[in-house]
Amino acid sequence: MSRRAYYEELLQLAREKRLEHGVNTAAFGLREVRAIYKGEGIRLDHWPLPYKIKALYMCDDDCPSVALQQSIPYEPKLFALIHELKHHYCDRAALGTGVIHCGDYDANELIEKGAEVFAAEFIYPEAEFAEDLQRLGVTIRDASHVVEVKRSCKAKVSYTFICKRLERLGCITSGQFGGVQFQKLEEQIYGVPFYRRRR
Ligand SMILES: [Zn+2]
Repeated sequence: MSRRAYYEELLQLAREKRLEHGVNTAAFGLREVRAIYKGEGIRLDHWPLPYKIKALYMCDDDCPSVALQQSIPYEPKLFALIHELKHHYCDRAALGTGVIHCGDYDANELIEKGAEVFAAEFIYPEAEFAEDLQRLGVTIRDASHVVEVKRSCKAKVSYTFICKRLERLGCITSGQFGGVQFQKLEEQIYGVPFYRRRR
């Protein structure tokens, strides 16, 4: 199967699984992911992971489990958990009783990128993103426009996610805002949110 056909299948699977689990983009967060894990019989482990590993998936004696890096922020956590869900749906047979360490893109490059494709579509389908962007009516000329898109974004996704999407939709060029620290920029424009202010 070609790479393109593989990704296309994963996009389709993500849409099916969203429907099956009744995902509503604006209301989808960690609590909802935990409910999906419970429904799928995946145990969530909390042991510490090496810094470079975002998450891992394993399946011993038909008991699937996922361990998650606790030190990462909310949005990447959500993304990582859906990334692992793709391994659960698609890669169990190939995996046998081994472990998939995620975050290491040199190993298993295709199944890892496939998991990213699946997770992006599952959390915020591209067509829905494009519609919302059009409704917002922002033309991306500088980094502050990306901040605007993020602040009006209904899905719980990171700046990295948004930039990748804008790239895919041809709104920005590859790496256009590569060096920008969006969180800092957002704070410069809108101020530091109260929960991050020092007393
Ligand atoms: Zn992975």
